[in-house]
Amino acid sequence: MEPSGVNTPPDMDIETIFLDRDGVINQKLPEGEYVSSWERFALLPGVVEAIAALKQAGLRVIVVTNQRGVALGRYTIADVEAIHARLQAELAKHGAKVDAFYFCPHDKKQCQCRKPLSGMFEQARTEFPGMVAASSVMVGDSLSDIEFGRALGMRTIFVSGDAEHRKAGWEKAGELADEVAADLPGAVRQILG
Ligand SMILES: [Mg+2]
Ligand SMILES: [Zn+2]
Repeated sequence: MEPSGVNTPPDMDIETIFLDRDGVINQKLPEGEYVSSWERFALLPGVVEAIAALKQAGLRVIVVTNQRGVALGRYTIADVEAIHARLQAELAKHGAKVDAFYFCPHDKKQCQCRKPLSGMFEQARTEFPGMVAASSVMVGDSLSDIEFGRALGMRTIFVSGDAEHRKAGWEKAGELADEVAADLPGAVRQILG
């Protein structure tokens, strides 16, 4: 594994793109509100096409998302899985797909899978043997996403989104990330060159 805290570019070709969900794929809701159903899941502009472009380029696309709302009783694991199934169906209409979804349903400090901890990467590596962080990119809109990617030695892209939806720590996330993009389509353009 690459040492953490070093901004070295990956020395191999990119194979896997890790995407945060809320604020990257769909609109983040105001603090304290939760994306508890498909009705509350608003796809951001250009996201479907951006994921399709990644797949056309032969890349693996993996979603890693903290869903603490499950631990708080706002929605269930089945609700999260239903949202992901609907998203997958929507992507399929455009010839796109997500290769795997991983989510952390736990509260803070209860597990090893809540970003910035690396548990969801370890789960992905079990499912996709041979996958390495050095050929992976993490795209996210929170400090925890950028810390997750950096600790593993991935290339990181901070999605800045619109000012009203930014969470505390976003300035630091922008500074720590290797690159900054306005949105997922912008990040994908940077990845695909
Ligand atoms: Mg997010
Ligand atoms: Zn967890």
